[in-house]
Amino acid sequence: MTGGVVSSLGKGIISASVARLLLSRGFNVTLQKFDPYINIDPGTLNPYEHGECYVTVDGHEADLDLGHYERFTNVQTTRANNVTTGRIYQSVIDKERRGDYLGKTVQIVPHITDEIKLNVKHLGETGDYDFVITEIGGTVGDIESLPFLEAVRQLKWELGNRCVVVHLTYVPYIKAAGELKTKPTQHSVKQLQQVGIQPDVLVLRTERELSEAMCRKVAQFCNVSVNAVTQSVDVPSIYEVPLMMHRQHLDQIILEKTATPFTGEPDLSKWNLFLNKLRNATEVVNIGLVGKYVELQDAYKSIDESMLQAAAYHDHKVKIHYVSSERLNDNNVSQLLSGMDGVVIAPGFGQRGTEGKFVAARWCREHDMPTFGICFGMQCMVIEFARNVLGLELANSTEMDPSTPHNVIDLMEEQKSITAMGGTMRLGAYACHLTEGSRVAHAYGTLDIEERHRHRFEFNNLFREAFEEAGMRCVGENPASHLVEVVEIPDKKWYIGTQYHPEYSSTVLNPHPLFMDFMAAAIANKGPLKNEQ
Ligand code: GLN
Repeated sequence: MTGGVVSSLGKGIISASVARLLLSRGFNVTLQKFDPYINIDPGTLNPYEHGECYVTVDGHEADLDLGHYERFTNVQTTRANNVTTGRIYQSVIDKERRGDYLGKTVQIVPHITDEIKLNVKHLGETGDYDFVITEIGGTVGDIESLPFLEAVRQLKWELGNRCVVVHLTYVPYIKAAGELKTKPTQHSVKQLQQVGIQPDVLVLRTERELSEAMCRKVAQFCNVSVNAVTQSVDVPSIYEVPLMMHRQHLDQIILEKTATPFTGEPDLSKWNLFLNKLRNATEVVNIGLVGKYVELQDAYKSIDESMLQAAAYHDHKVKIHYVSSERLNDNNVSQLLSGMDGVVIAPGFGQRGTEGKFVAARWCREHDMPTFGICFGMQCMVIEFARNVLGLELANSTEMDPSTPHNVIDLMEEQKSITAMGGTMRLGAYACHLTEGSRVAHAYGTLDIEERHRHRFEFNNLFREAFEEAGMRCVGENPASHLVEVVEIPDKKWYIGTQYHPEYSSTVLNPHPLFMDFMAAAIANKGPLKNEQ
């Protein structure tokens, strides 16, 4: 899957939609993303650069497209599913230092391109998949993408009809002329052809429906058969995209081009069940999301999607109100949060905007607002409770105040000697045992769970008893390390913080039980009185 003209066309969504359709036909599919940047992984990137950092079960800090992949397919990804230029080079350089190249001059072609191909084929060779969908990040024509495109060209040559290239482009509408323009698409396909790749299928991203004549014209100019020119028009939800692409037979075209035998239609009944709920929901549940990246669309992608899914299954539309934690203070908190049915306190790193999160945690606790603290959000709940209930005024996390006398959130011993930033946090899935009778245990319907982590700091067990006695219970812990993973205040409607990130494992077909329970509490909190306020 390549992209042209501009970025942000939704290559990840189209890739995930193709995967959904093939899966629904009974094939085993996995998706992988190649990112052309030099960072080893996006873990060290500010969300302003590439949006949310997603985390796989095996502890890889990954591009947010992997979140789309998992949400659409229900198939878990690993570090093999997201590879950057940095990782490719690192691996080649490691091999060179080991002497693996036996005195050869190490070059972009063939060594870097071979390494790229190795990473594509690796997933196929596991024997677990009928299809590997490889998304090449960036846009055709970028300098950084060239080695990846060269690898695609070689793969296409080697694999014959076992390799299909789908190219996603953009067809802009020029308002003043009242016309849709296919020229950028023609140019972008030309650019692909220049590096030796003839796309098999085109997906034209457009805000307005393209006529058949236009598609025919594109087909003719781009050497693509007419039936393989499809379009992706704006739809109300990304989860409509698989259906839209199926109506244009995209799955069938790919199966035919790869000479894969198939019969009948994909079974999209469960998908449709969800979509119908999403489409038909008229009631709105209002959730305040307190975070510092509120002006950024993709910063809390997985949380947004988890809430949308859970709300839909409760026949509601979720309206997320992004509340900037930097602006939040004691004077405006009531005005900003009192109209909400529930509040999420977002994950985060560093000092900026933390005091606002404490203000939110306190206001929500004192006003019995259903509240979900995630990772740093949970740590804020703990710090606020220590300050205002336990009376430990200077309580803090040593992340913000290394010399706090009340380090209720602190670094684990094994983290203290770590200085490198990349990939050194507590990452990936860890087991958690829940306390019988707790609200979380009730929500999960089981006592033993596994959830994904991405943090350095932890609840300090020295304070555990004091918290428990004062009413904040530690209701989930890691069975091996006894680290506290979940806190809740049982006498509130819903006041729960998780050290882990449940949002990474909520999918369309399996909405996360904790988001389901939180959303139920928020909906129950609506009440007629509240709406009148
Ligand atoms: N900054 C906190 C830590 O490192 C929380 C991280 C997060 O919210 N993901 O522990």
